[in-house]
Parts: sequence; structure tokens; C-alpha cells
Amino acid sequence: MGKIYVVGIGPGDAETMTFRAREVLEGCDVIAGYTLYVDLVRADYPEKEFYTTGMRGETERCEACVRMAREGKTVALICSGDAGVYGMASPLLEAAQRAGVDDVEIIPGVTAALSGAALLGAPLSHDFCVISLSDLLTPQETIEKRLLCAAQGDLCIVLYNPASHGRPDHLKRACGILLRVLPPSVCCGLVRNIGRDGTESLTCTLGELGNMPADMLTTVYIGNSQTRIVNGRLLTPRGYTGT
Ligand code: SAH
Repeated sequence: MGKIYVVGIGPGDAETMTFRAREVLEGCDVIAGYTLYVDLVRADYPEKEFYTTGMRGETERCEACVRMAREGKTVALICSGDAGVYGMASPLLEAAQRAGVDDVEIIPGVTAALSGAALLGAPLSHDFCVISLSDLLTPQETIEKRLLCAAQGDLCIVLYNPASHGRPDHLKRACGILLRVLPPSVCCGLVRNIGRDGTESLTCTLGELGNMPADMLTTVYIGNSQTRIVNGRLLTPRGYTGT
């Protein structure tokens, strides 16, 4: 019986991959994953076997990894960012359990919320939450309830999946919901293509955010009531000392 590693490779650049993730990729027989992510590492490991599937091929990808492990191979199933954050760690654990494969190890990676925050400044220095705007696996009402609760709690909010192929308006709708609770002056930011060619970051207000361009490779930040823009950087103080 082989072994499966589920590996978070970070945002995309080789430097931001952890040393442990690199070690696992060097030692494995097969690198498996979504085509786009496998292409990010393919050139560095020309001697490896590769297994890729398209974006919706997640179940098939997990089952193939389990099959290869049962054949005695060491498989690295890679994900961008962290493997457990909207990633393959949970579907793989389910597939492994169904197939009786016990030897699975999850290797953490730098999730987009954190690598993007570093580009913007220090937006997450106080309590924050992460919400995905994708309604593929989550009912729209649940997403809306979470947005409202986060706003009511004065949490800094990181939005993943602000747009999808069929649905470019997720971000605009989310802003409309947040603006029921929050003033339009709240400081916000967007980061696009972290760790890849053409990295972009910008700051704006919540009133402006809904009209900002956001695609599938954008991560969005909404500050709390204390967040300011200082020299073009988003800064959330460590506390509420002014109150
Ligand atoms: N497992 C990933 C998240 C996958 S969900 C992680 O931990 O980062 C996909 C969403 O993550 C995208 O819609 C986007 O919001 C964010 N994301 C992933 N990679 C990104 C990158 N390189 N630049 C900006 N945002 C990214």
C-alpha cells in the first residue's frame, strides 16, 4: 500500500511553497491535481508521473489517487493555497475512508487570505473570517446570513470566489448585503493573481467595492470599523484602543 499526501502549494510562486511541501513533491511518484495547479509545478519535476483532471473532476481525482495508492505508489495531490481551505483535503479523506486507505497526510500551505493580506499591508491583525461567495456547494441564503453575521460582529472579512465563470455578479450582491449593516466608508482591498504573473492589489471603500473588477483569481478584503488606509496600505489595528 502506498501513501497519499494532500499538499497545499501556496499561491503559486515556488518561494511561497513550504519546505515540507517541496520535500513531499520531490519524494513522491505521482503529482495529481487540477490541470492549472499541476502546470505550476510541472517544469520543476520533469521525472514525475502526472495525473490531472479539470475543475469539476474532483471526485474522479480523489478516486484516482486512492487507486494509485492501492497500487503501492506515493501520491501527492496538490491544491493551491492550503489544501484544507476550500481544497481537496476533505474529499480525499472521504474517498480514502471509503476505499480503506489509512495512510494519508495533509501538508499545510499558505492560503490566499494570508498571502494576499501581506500584499495589502496588515488587514487581518484583529479577528477575521473567511467566506466563499461560491453557491455551487452552499445555498445562497447561507452565504447571505454569514455575510450579515460577520458584518454585525465587526469582523474583518476575506471573500474567496468573488466571481465564477457563469456568475460575475457575486461580489456586487455581497456588497449590497454588507451595506445593509456597514457604512460605505469601510476600507477594503482586492488582490489578484497572488504569486503569479501580473499580481495586482488595490484599496477602495465598501461603497466602491461592488464595481471593482474581480475574477476567479481575486481575493477580497473588507476591513472592520477600525481599519484605515495608511500610505496606500490596509491597516487594521490590533485592538479598539480608541473606544
Ligand atoms: N485552497 C485555496 C482556495 C481555493 S478557493 C487557498 O487556500 O488559497 C479559490 C479562491 O481562492 C479564488 O476564487 C480566490 O478567491 C482565491 N485564490 C486562490 N489562489 C489565488 C491567487 N493566486 N490569487 C488570488 N486569489 C486566489
